[in-house]
Amino acid sequence: MALMIRNEGGRVEVVCGSMFSGKTEELIRRLRRALLGRQRVQAFKPAIDTRYHDSKIVSHSSLALEAEPVRDPAEIFARVRPDTEVVGIDEAQFFSHELVEVVQRLADRGVRVILAGLDQDYLGRPFEPVPQLMAIAEDVTKCHAVCTVCGGAASRSQRVVDTSHAARVQVGAAESYEARCRQCFEDPESATKVVTRAAG
Ligand code: ADP
Ligand code: MG
Ligand code: ZN
Repeated sequence: MALMIRNEGGRVEVVCGSMFSGKTEELIRRLRRALLGRQRVQAFKPAIDTRYHDSKIVSHSSLALEAEPVRDPAEIFARVRPDTEVVGIDEAQFFSHELVEVVQRLADRGVRVILAGLDQDYLGRPFEPVPQLMAIAEDVTKCHAVCTVCGGAASRSQRVVDTSHAARVQVGAAESYEARCRQCFEDPESATKVVTRAAG
């Protein structure tokens, strides 16, 4: 896999996977390499994600990089400076579909755009707009966490708190999730159905 240091024109890179799979670490690694290559870099994160720090992207292993909190994709587009060469965006799944258009426009004008985000929600369903971003990307990296049950490669995020009234977006609750592989993942919806059937 060719991970560029020098910019040879605009492109889109997606780093995806479950929670704890190292997406943010990988995003920070790529942005730091771009900085080492003396490229002009800007990083963004959704303003709703204030888990650790307002103006930093922070990994679960405490790596950190300065980032601008933004409310929506239009704000990213407005904040990218004309001479910026590399744009990093963390937690891409928290943005609306508009992100796809913004990323296309930035890449079309020569910017290297690197996005990190969850490709599946807590039910194991594709988590928009990450699948759409994967489709338009020149390069996709799928990261895997370690399954907390069997130690295998985890692709899913298991919510380990009560999910009966839960929203799809539940920011900040890393302690409410576990990385699980396909075999160890328990579908919360089919679990509910089984309970309902048993009760009825
Ligand atoms: P992501 O952005 O994908 O949620 P991070 O890059 O923030 O992941 O964090 C990855 C780090 O999380 C790992 O290097 C490791 O230190 C830690 N970690 C905690 N639990 C796990 C797990 N189950 N599998 C892998 N890494 C884990
Ligand atoms: Mg992350
Ligand atoms: Zn497992």
